[in-house]
Amino acid sequence: LAKNIIEAMKFIEVNDVKFIRLQFCDLFGQNRNIAITAMQMERALASGIPFDASLVVGFSESQYTDLVLCPDISTIQLLPWRPQQGKVARIICDIKYPNGDIFESDSRFILKEMIKRAETLGYQFSTSAECEFYLFKQDENGDPTTIPTDQAGYFDLAPYDRGENTRREICLTLEDMGFEIESSRHEAGRGQHEIDFKCDDALSSADKIMTFKTVVKTVAQRNGVHASFLPKPLIDEPGSGMHIRISLSKDGEDILANDNGQLGAEAKQFMAGVLAHIKGMTAIANPLVNSYKRLTGGQEAPHQIGWGFGNRASLIRIPIESNEFGRFELRGPDPTCNPYLTFALILAAGLDGIEKQMVLMDEWEPEVEKSSKAVTPGEQRQELPITLKEALDEMKADTMVSSVLGENLAQKYIEMKTAEWMDYIKTVHPWEIDRYLLTY
Ligand code: GLU
Ligand code: MG
Ligand code: MG
Repeated sequence: LAKNIIEAMKFIEVNDVKFIRLQFCDLFGQNRNIAITAMQMERALASGIPFDASLVVGFSESQYTDLVLCPDISTIQLLPWRPQQGKVARIICDIKYPNGDIFESDSRFILKEMIKRAETLGYQFSTSAECEFYLFKQDENGDPTTIPTDQAGYFDLAPYDRGENTRREICLTLEDMGFEIESSRHEAGRGQHEIDFKCDDALSSADKIMTFKTVVKTVAQRNGVHASFLPKPLIDEPGSGMHIRISLSKDGEDILANDNGQLGAEAKQFMAGVLAHIKGMTAIANPLVNSYKRLTGGQEAPHQIGWGFGNRASLIRIPIESNEFGRFELRGPDPTCNPYLTFALILAAGLDGIEKQMVLMDEWEPEVEKSSKAVTPGEQRQELPITLKEALDEMKADTMVSSVLGENLAQKYIEMKTAEWMDYIKTVHPWEIDRYLLTY
């Protein structure tokens, strides 16, 4: 890892890098970048590269139209799929105002601030992600379809699994980029896959998720297929989640570890905090209209608020083997979320639980056979929001969320997502025609 300008310049020279992509994540979790040539790199490292922020979603509320991309030197990395002569590197950037002040709505900055706040209390937060995605066929124009590339299911092998070559290439590319891959496999849905990577500090881990999505999409395209992280692309197949595995240590001691099923006091409080704030965080962790089709659609996606050791319909699941890949798994989020904001909120919620010594609800696991929507009579479970609209209302009601994101950003997010919701509501969908046209 390059640590300073001299090392970064050396990296560029030694590797014969011709282009550098300055990358950042917009408010809605999409990677953005501008490319510069190697000749501009020294200037970029020394004083940043100005860009027009007025067209970047979520940034336009700033009264400045110019913001500055300031490379985080430690993130420089070659893009293995680009030409091997005259290579391309990418570097993740922080965003500043032209006067050098930090742009406070930069989601990477928001996570960094939260991590710092935790560190002053003695806590270190690590995360990793289990990202699921579908591989779909492309049509003759190269546009994506919703036809899965195979008919295989969970853990299937070739010849049923037709994604193995693409998946293999994704894993090798990720390893080239410094990932430690725990495992990869065909998932339960036709054409669905999952690749899990090892825990890292929360900032590197969020950076990795952003890299992961780019790698998966790029390698898939090079293999003539379309990779989609859409949470519920096919109504009859499982959705794609992004389970987040979480570890927390305090002064070096791993506090979420369980001793044969016995959880420590702080572990319980941390989970209680996450569960207490989960509704308010859902609009961030599950940001699309489509996200709620996954959450309400069963098939091992959580719908009710609870935790447990075993089964996979629990919102928080403590895997039997909890290890360096994480101590517990939050199963709500999906891969379309902005991971920086999602991690910042999980950390804030957990610490709020510890600070207020929140009491963890009883262990509760839904029965697997039941649709996760079914509630046993007399048992009133708290549920996750079932629509984006409901999630946005919950977000407004939880002041912790706006205190982490900042009033401006929270307001902007709610405004833009409400517009997205209204757009959806105004649209006449095929379902309505199928269901009503003949009868009415
Ligand atoms: N695909 C399921 C989800 O939507 C998760 C399946 C699993 O446990 O890996 O979260
Ligand atoms: Mg999975
Ligand atoms: Mg999982």
